[in-house]
This record gives sequence, structure tokens and C-alpha cells, in this order.
Amino acid sequence: MTNQPTREAILAALSKVQEPELHRDLVTLNMIRNLTVEGGNVKFNIVLTTPACPLRSQIEKEARQAVLAIAGVQNVEIKMTSEVPNDGRMRGLVETTIKNAIAVGSGKGGVGKSTVAVNIAVALAQSGAQVGLMDADIYGPNIPTMMGIDRLPPPSRNNKIPPAKAYGVEVISMGLLVRPGQPLIWRGPMLNSAIRQFLSDVEWSDLDYLIVDLPPGTGDAALSLAQALPLTGAIIVTLPQLVSLEDASRGLNMFRQLEVPLLGVIENMSYLELPDGTRMDIFGSGGGLQLATGAQVPFLGQIPIDPNVRIGGDSGKPVVVAYPDSPVAKALRGIAERLAAQISVTALQGGTHIPIQIVD
Ligand code: ADP
Repeated sequence: MTNQPTREAILAALSKVQEPELHRDLVTLNMIRNLTVEGGNVKFNIVLTTPACPLRSQIEKEARQAVLAIAGVQNVEIKMTSEVPNDGRMRGLVETTIKNAIAVGSGKGGVGKSTVAVNIAVALAQSGAQVGLMDADIYGPNIPTMMGIDRLPPPSRNNKIPPAKAYGVEVISMGLLVRPGQPLIWRGPMLNSAIRQFLSDVEWSDLDYLIVDLPPGTGDAALSLAQALPLTGAIIVTLPQLVSLEDASRGLNMFRQLEVPLLGVIENMSYLELPDGTRMDIFGSGGGLQLATGAQVPFLGQIPIDPNVRIGGDSGKPVVVAYPDSPVAKALRGIAERLAAQISVTALQGGTHIPIQIVD
């Protein structure tokens, strides 16, 4: 007579399998769902914390091996799905269907903050997540150009503002709400209410991630916008050279003071790859990693210089779409995956799955 494996034995085996990024086991993380055992046939779902999980096949393999090692198990069927956790910061502040809002900041302008915001948003959407992109850079709202959008769809009947949509990403921009060429003069309280409107009056889907492109620097506009938003966390984009790092470091400190968790540092324009494969450091090297290490913030990666990034930005076709196999697109996708993992870690540490309430 063969041994019939029990549910308990299977869960015990799966509780030895770690989620490599979150450093906890699959059972504790409530990632095992719909477990059924029929004779020697075992079926279950593994619910990842992000569809952009680069370790998906490793987790599946380890879970399968752990269960197959149990006496009596003949066949293991695993379905991999995902459910992005909610860190609960949105709760109580505004009525919204957004799970996680992530600000992209920089110490100064021109470092590629908007470019990174756009490509990360598109990369996350390509992985299967529901993604929104909010252009809150009031000094240079160039997200519409970078996403190839020139207007919003007509307003819906319930007075909600429908976001524009491109490359699977829902987009709203201060730049789409004013006529082209009209100067944008926003002051603190106005900014605050505009942002709240962007959160509550825009008809977002149930977003896993809302990427927010903040104004550069640590001036009034960046500060009041970062305060107006219930942020899951923030990332800082910097160039590799030392002078940039001082600015970036001020950016990090601004979020620290606002008690916004720092999800990571990204170094842009890190090097130029020459035709013979060697790398040329145009703006110095290693600064981003140095900044991240010094501030004890995760380093999410380096992005090389590639003229196609600028061409993609100017033509409204982000490089992760236009040249998905280029080294720069791969670097951007890797950064999006590491960011998604950090968001999961932060959200799970917050540990809340409490439904959003409206307090206004
Ligand atoms: P910011 O939002 O920080 O002001 P942008 O994202 O607008 O910066 O980028 C500034 C300029 O640099 C844009 O023309 C953009 O296309 C270009 N750029 C950004 N990152 C790269 C890169 N890795 N390689 C080449 N050009 C880049």
C-alpha cells in the first residue's frame, strides 16, 4: 500500500522554501493557495507579490522539488500567479484604488528622472502589473511627449478624469491639463489640491503601482508634492559623478525627513558601451553605489548611456518598447524588477491588507 501524502506534510515541506527576496518562507508569506491533494497528485497556486518577479522560476522549482521529495507524491502541478501587496499608506488619506505609489525624485534636473519613471512604468506594465504614471514635474511636464500622448480622453459622465493610456500604462500629467506653451505657475496649496485630485478624481484602474515623477530637487514644489502623496516609498536617480551625489544626497534626506521609505538609488548615464565592448565612463563611475551604501539604501542598478534613450523619449516610444533587447532596456527592466521586490518587502513589513477608508 502506498503512502497518501497529507496536506500538513506538503505545507511543512513548503514552509522550508524561502522567498529569496523577502527572506521568509512561502507558507508564512501566505503565498500557497488552493492546495489540493488527490492520491499522489498535488496541486496548488503560488501567489507572488509582483508579476515582475525575476525569481519566479527558481521559486517554482524549489517548491516542486520540496513537494516531490515527500513520500507518495507522484505529480505536482503549480500555477504561478501574483497579487501585489498594499502597504496601507493610501488608507485613510484619499479615496483610491491604488495599492502603491512610488515617487521618483532627483537632486537636480537633467539626470534622467522622467526617462527612468517612464521606462520603469512601461517595464512593470509589460510584466503584467496594472500601472499608472503621474507626471507631477511641474517645471517640465514632459511625460506626455515621452509616452507619445497629446491629450486626455473626453471626460466621463461622473465628472471623473479618465487617464490617457499608452503602452499599457495609465497616464496623467499637469501638462495635459493646460494648453501647450502656457506657463505653469503652481503654488503650495494649489499643488496640494491638484495632487489630491489626481489621486481621487482620476479614474484609475485598480493600480498595483503608481509611479510619480516629482519635480527635481528639494525645493518647495518637490517638498509639498512629496508631502501631499501617501507614498509607499521613493527612488532617487543620480548621475555617477561626485557633484551629482551631493544633490542626490539632499534628495534622499528630504524623503527621510518626510518619513518616506527609501526604496533605492538608481545611477543613470553610468557609461557608454563602445563598439568593441569596452565601457567608457563619461561622468565618473561608482557614485550611485557609493551613495546607496553610505545612506544604507538599496542600490537598484546602473543605466548606460544610449542615444536611443533620447530618441525614444523625443519620439514618444520608450526604449524598453522600441529596443527591448538592447543593454539599456535590459538594465531598465532589471531595475524595475528590483524595485518591485523592494516594494513587496516594504509593503509586507508594513504588513497591512486593510481596506481603504475615506476620511476627508
Ligand atoms: P530629468 O527628468 O531628470 O530632467 P530627463 O529624463 O528629461 O531628465 O532626461 C534628460 C535628457 O537626457 C533627455 O533628453 C533624455 O532623453 C536623456 N537621457 C536620459 N537618460 C539617458 C540615457 N541613459 N542615455 C541617453 N540619454 C539619456
